[in-house]
Amino acid sequence: MRPILIKSVKMPGEDDPVDIRLHHGLIAEIAPEIHCSEAERIDGSGLTVMPPFAEAHIHLDTAFCADEMENQSGTLDEGIAIWQKLRPRLTESLVQEKAERVLGKMLTEGVQSFRVMVDVSGGQLTAMRALVQMREAGRELFDLQLIAFPQNGICSGDDGIRHMKEALEIGADGISAVPHLEETRKKGSDSIKQCFDLAVSEDATVHIFADETDESDSRFTEQVAKVAQRYGWENRTAVSHANAMEYASETDMVKLLEALISSGIHLVTCPTVNSVMNGRTRTSPKGRGIMRVKELMKANIPVACAHDDYRSPFYPLGTGSLLKSANLLVHLGQLTAKEELQKVMAMIGPVPRKLMGLSETSIAEGEHANLILLEGEAPEEWIGHAQAPRYVFRRGRILSYTPQVTSELKMTVPKTADIIEI
Ligand SMILES: [Zn+2]
Repeated sequence: MRPILIKSVKMPGEDDPVDIRLHHGLIAEIAPEIHCSEAERIDGSGLTVMPPFAEAHIHLDTAFCADEMENQSGTLDEGIAIWQKLRPRLTESLVQEKAERVLGKMLTEGVQSFRVMVDVSGGQLTAMRALVQMREAGRELFDLQLIAFPQNGICSGDDGIRHMKEALEIGADGISAVPHLEETRKKGSDSIKQCFDLAVSEDATVHIFADETDESDSRFTEQVAKVAQRYGWENRTAVSHANAMEYASETDMVKLLEALISSGIHLVTCPTVNSVMNGRTRTSPKGRGIMRVKELMKANIPVACAHDDYRSPFYPLGTGSLLKSANLLVHLGQLTAKEELQKVMAMIGPVPRKLMGLSETSIAEGEHANLILLEGEAPEEWIGHAQAPRYVFRRGRILSYTPQVTSELKMTVPKTADIIEI
């Protein structure tokens, strides 16, 4: 394989640019000036090199369903009702077609690790079968983790535990629960316990959807943290959404923070879908629809920021850009301090990688050459412009190239005026 030489690129936090040579899938050399006549040269000036992003919560089976049936109320309930009608129409090839489109777009946006939530309700496991094949076929390009997710619940009619067990048998990496969607709070609590029982007996990862509701007293996130700790499963447990904490009393919030700090489980916030879906039934003032990221950040609780739905019955938009999700999070969470912006960058890279149990990555000689080159030098530029990386590398090869977007001003901006007429 021909080496690649990236010239004059910035490393995060460093003043002087460096040259980086990639060879045989690895970062072969980093130095102020490298000469390599046989290498393909890449101009890195104005760009910063960093490890690729990681997506901790995405749906591929529901992608593009927004084109088939519109969610007019924008609520979670209508989204679920539409999905119940569309799910039986899935075929393995249709799921793979959707996945190819979403993953392909997200690869160009610099994402190379994905945790995918795969609905197993009804027990057909069509999407799971299709995605297990893609996980194996796509290892050269991405890391895929598949979570069997029981949209219809575990204790309220559908046999979610059996479906998840079968999903694990055909290759799922983990399982889930949706306690806030169960018929009663008691069933919600029971579903969490049953999920952990299965996870421990089958050695599976747990990723629970909890408190995706505007009910201020929904406290399943706290319960998950406590149960995970009791089972010794805290390093393999994550909770997505948890936006009910937005409305929690300060007393409840203190208890929740204590449980999260004590257990160390990861949280995942999904600012796009939750900011538009939650609060629909409330009059003003509405909550922001996301967990209290600023307080969680101050308490050093690990929170990942995810893209989540892609043109689904739950969310009609979707770009595949984690930088755009991060941009929205900065606004909703009021995370504009320099240190906060840096932490938001970690929420789409190192934090979700750790959540997924993937090894840490760094830009160093001998490391795998999985890299992205972003325009600009600081989080304000990366998150502010939210542009796709100019280059994405996977195992030392160019995976994607996005040309620089430039506009040309055809008139001059005036600075002075001879006569001011009012
Ligand atoms: Zn989701």
